[in-house]
Amino acid sequence: MVEDSKVVYDLNDQVVTRAHELTKNRQKCVVLTFDDGPGRYLPQILDVLKNESVPAVFFWQTRLLHPKRPWKRVLEEGHIIGSHSCKHPDLRKMQYQQQYHEIFTSKKKLQDIIGEPIRYFRPPFGQYNADTLKVLEEVDMKAVMWSTASLDWELKAHPEQIVSNVVSHIEEGAIILLHELPQTLLALPDLIRQIRNEHYFFTLLP
Ligand SMILES: [Zn+2]
Repeated sequence: MVEDSKVVYDLNDQVVTRAHELTKNRQKCVVLTFDDGPGRYLPQILDVLKNESVPAVFFWQTRLLHPKRPWKRVLEEGHIIGSHSCKHPDLRKMQYQQQYHEIFTSKKKLQDIIGEPIRYFRPPFGQYNADTLKVLEEVDMKAVMWSTASLDWELKAHPEQIVSNVVSHIEEGAIILLHELPQTLLALPDLIRQIRNEHYFFTLLP
């Protein structure tokens, strides 16, 4: 799994949902986001979130979405499901029509199973272009980037570093990038505890 390897993600684009939109109305809030599911660690991640009463946003690759995945539980426990495309391509390498097909198919598959409108999209690898934003407007979804990457995908042997990557870069309105990985599951209780120790609250997208 290769995604952008910067902990702090800088964006100049004004169109995508970013941390500062959260800070307008709320103070000291952060959002946990989990990419690349639904996977086998999802039930245990949900257990931790439930124990700690923390809401989160899950951006799913719809090629992995079998109807038996616990999507109902995700919604019932107050989380949000967004799209992370069907097959996780680099959208910048695709023509408008291909991007439209990739994004719309993913949104439709999620909606057909879940029965609710899907409003948020996270571009694979955090990569997008003007066509992506045009498609998203067309299909009524909003791009959601992150402000703090945990780098969890590189830290299989060092889950404690997932916590320190996030906590040392935390800021008001931070959107935190995590994945449905075993090391992330291991680090999650401590991550939540340490974020709370810094007096932040967990919220969902605007
Ligand atoms: Zn991804």
